[in-house]
Amino acid sequence: MRIGIIGLGNMGGGMAANLAKAGHEVMAFDLSADALGRAVTAGCTAATSAAEAATGAEAVVTMLPAGTHVRDVYQNSVFGAATPGTLLLDCSTIDVDSARAVAAAAEAAGFVMCDAPVSGGIAAANGGTLTFMVGGSAEAFARAEPVLGAMGKAILHAGGVGAGQAAKICNNMLLGASMIATAEAFVLAQKLGLDAQTFFDISSKASGQNWSMTSYCPVPGPVPTAPSNRDYQGGFASALMLKDLKLAVAAAQSAGASVPMGANAEALYQLFAGMGGAGLDFSGIIKLLDGSWRS
Ligand code: NAD
Repeated sequence: MRIGIIGLGNMGGGMAANLAKAGHEVMAFDLSADALGRAVTAGCTAATSAAEAATGAEAVVTMLPAGTHVRDVYQNSVFGAATPGTLLLDCSTIDVDSARAVAAAAEAAGFVMCDAPVSGGIAAANGGTLTFMVGGSAEAFARAEPVLGAMGKAILHAGGVGAGQAAKICNNMLLGASMIATAEAFVLAQKLGLDAQTFFDISSKASGQNWSMTSYCPVPGPVPTAPSNRDYQGGFASALMLKDLKLAVAAAQSAGASVPMGANAEALYQLFAGMGGAGLDFSGIIKLLDGSWRS
């Protein structure tokens, strides 16, 4: 299949490589010449513009920073260049309103569009093991599944357009809040004289058990693969967690939902990022809570 991909950064680079590896004819574009060069090395063909990447494509995939880039690329490049009927897949994490607005404009222009944000970081993008949360009609989802399947291990249908973004930001709001709550519990346990491994052994088998504890423990030791064992390097950057929390809180305001835990999580990650923790894995927020963080 001929696929156009626009946005070849940390995530899109690996995704483009996996599309090419799966045997697709991939026309790739990025504003960065370096990113484009890496995609060519990985088997893609360089397009000279986003419009050229979309021309003649059976499917177009975008992996861009935020809603403003997605609106711009579709309205000013893709809609005018792609053939009506083409499948459009935006995999960026963006606000629900932008996702719905772009999908409505796409439908009006005769395209089939899905929002398909991902869970899993750069390693999953490179390894082709992303989880896609897809918003779109049943027909659009059926067409999207094989394309996304070349880049991911789980392709989940969340509902109509915008539902993929909704699932992503609700999940990450829960993750951000649960990480802070987990970190707080470890800090308190330590202050009360309880050994971290002992607290882990008990709480992971009691009702406090949660993913942030058992798969991504914010203290080093109990979960050897967690970023806490490498001084919080790599993993999922606090800046990206903050971005998703901002999207969640803004969506809650626009939908009239009350999210005090999400709002507090946003404020704490904002503080941590402002103190220099933006590049650290999001479990590094424990350093802010235990007072050991020095910016
Ligand atoms: P990134 O900044 O590394 O890559 C974005 C790329 O888009 C850049 O290479 C940039 O040059 C390109 N770009 C921007 N405007 C463009 C335009 N008009 N035309 C063509 N290219 C353009 O970002 P990333 O880490 O790859 O993240 C991409 C998306 O995936 C974001 O929405 C992010 O929230 C989401 N996401 C990231 C991760 C992660 O761990 N990095 C995990 C899940 C989701």
